[in-house]
Amino acid sequence: MAVVWEQLQQYQPVAMKILANSLEKGRVAHAYLLEGQRGTGKREASLLFAKSLFCFNRDGYQPCDECSNCRRIGSRNHPDVHWIEPDGQSIKKAQIEALQAEFAKTGMESRKKLYVIVHADKMTTNAANSLLKFLEEPHAGTTAILLTEQLHRLLPTIISRCQVVSFQPLPPILLANRLKEEHIPLHFAMLAAHVTNNYEEALEWSRNDWFAESRKIVLQLYEALNQNEFQALLLIQEKWMPHFQEKQQVDMGLDLLLYLYRDILHLQLGQLEHVVYCDRLDDLRQWALACSQKRTINNMTTILQAKARLNTNMNVQLLMEQLILNLKGGTTFV
Ligand SMILES: [Zn+2]
Repeated sequence: MAVVWEQLQQYQPVAMKILANSLEKGRVAHAYLLEGQRGTGKREASLLFAKSLFCFNRDGYQPCDECSNCRRIGSRNHPDVHWIEPDGQSIKKAQIEALQAEFAKTGMESRKKLYVIVHADKMTTNAANSLLKFLEEPHAGTTAILLTEQLHRLLPTIISRCQVVSFQPLPPILLANRLKEEHIPLHFAMLAAHVTNNYEEALEWSRNDWFAESRKIVLQLYEALNQNEFQALLLIQEKWMPHFQEKQQVDMGLDLLLYLYRDILHLQLGQLEHVVYCDRLDDLRQWALACSQKRTINNMTTILQAKARLNTNMNVQLLMEQLILNLKGGTTFV
């Protein structure tokens, strides 16, 4: 289902306000540059903006999403709306020239034209110079939208000809809510939203079996730690080591463990709204009561130290065993 304006506005209030204002006030710029990390909604925003610009039944700044223009733009079939994406590794000069030739034609259907350049930073130098000329002599009724995840890679002369609209990384809770709309259970959504702030990646993690199993093992490890050292060490050997095989995976496992301790700290501080392992609230409450804030913070430090040691040549099993002893003894790495 297509994203609607209000949805995107929740996640990107500032960016969407800028776009809405220019539509409402009839002051559409010649060129916009939407910049921000992957998954922050730049493409969706471009699509909505394009629909609004061409919509036959626009309501304020919002497109109807039903008229023939909205539908044709949605299916990328509108003759006056062009999308340019990298051809292989880069956007080539020929692609920009073809666009210019297209725009030089008169008698276009809507008397306006819009083009979107996705990954504008991937333009070759020649392509970028061609585009620059195009931006310097804008045709009436022509709008450009450039998208980039890497603003610093664009020519300053291109940036200066565009209205720059920044898309912010999503706060975990908003990202988790967006995942919930995809029927991801909140406890998975929250955890995935903490390991990445990219929507697509988070969606992949929330549907990933390895990730679900990781979460389970981390919770089991905490429970084993609550019993005794021996149980915890056994769990490391029997479950943790076979599951978290690569260093990167161990690193993620430690992150998940860190979020668990942070949840406990949040509960000790009475901050319920930040809890990541939200399906285990009753257990978390008990665990929060069973230890001091100081101890929890200390243990978080220990986990961060273990993460740092992962980058050294220390044997992972030894590292994990040392971590268990430190967590259990309330000591830190020396
Ligand atoms: Zn419409």
